[in-house]
Amino acid sequence: MHAFLTAALNALFPHRCLGCRVDTALDQPFCATCHRFIQPIEPPFCSCCGVPFVTEAGPNHLCSRCQEQLPSFRQARSWAVYAGSSSTPHPLNEAIQQFKYQRRLSTGKALASLAAIGCPLDSEPYDMIVPVPLHLERLRWRGFNQSLLLARAIGQARHTPVDPFLLERIRSTTPQTQLKGKERRTNVRGAFHVSDAEKLTGKTVLLIDDVYTSGATTEECARTLRRSGAATVDVFTLARAIIH
Ligand SMILES: [Zn+2]
Ligand SMILES: [Zn+2]
Repeated sequence: MHAFLTAALNALFPHRCLGCRVDTALDQPFCATCHRFIQPIEPPFCSCCGVPFVTEAGPNHLCSRCQEQLPSFRQARSWAVYAGSSSTPHPLNEAIQQFKYQRRLSTGKALASLAAIGCPLDSEPYDMIVPVPLHLERLRWRGFNQSLLLARAIGQARHTPVDPFLLERIRSTTPQTQLKGKERRTNVRGAFHVSDAEKLTGKTVLLIDDVYTSGATTEECARTLRRSGAATVDVFTLARAIIH
């Protein structure tokens, strides 16, 4: 009966792989081929910023960047690698881009479920979850904030309130993808503002974004939250670009 029902549901609502869009099983976000190219972030990684150590084995420890200067957040974790080597397909990149740039909300919903399941910071009690905000101009263009969709799913799974208005982007910035290292930090410097610092005093906050690339946006958001009174900021992003 169950098999019949699944087949019937599949026929009614064909489920497509988030990466390559081929039909796939109802409860699988990626087809078997794409699934092989998803690289979950696994230890050993930096105990602070979460960057995986590609060639080393052993326990988690601080990476050289964090040893030089600790970020404003306590720890950042991600579910999977944003891009592997250039010779392999990137189904997660594909899915995130369909969600953000083709505004495919069904893909966004599936990615949000993955974020809720894949967030490894499960033993941490957070007072609130805050998404990385978009500037109003970008929000109008896209119609939604992808980080808020992820934050909502995580908040629901953990029974933790999500505050989408506490952290604001007060300055429109060049997309970070068009910039390099130092330019990225300058680009986002002073771009965020906390609307109600009283709400943050002494609080433990989980900051959510879709992709962690250079860490510049994450760092600036965490710095702004801490300067406005947050005691601790942890970060979770669905995907993580590996920059060496
Ligand atoms: Zn696929
Ligand atoms: Zn690090």
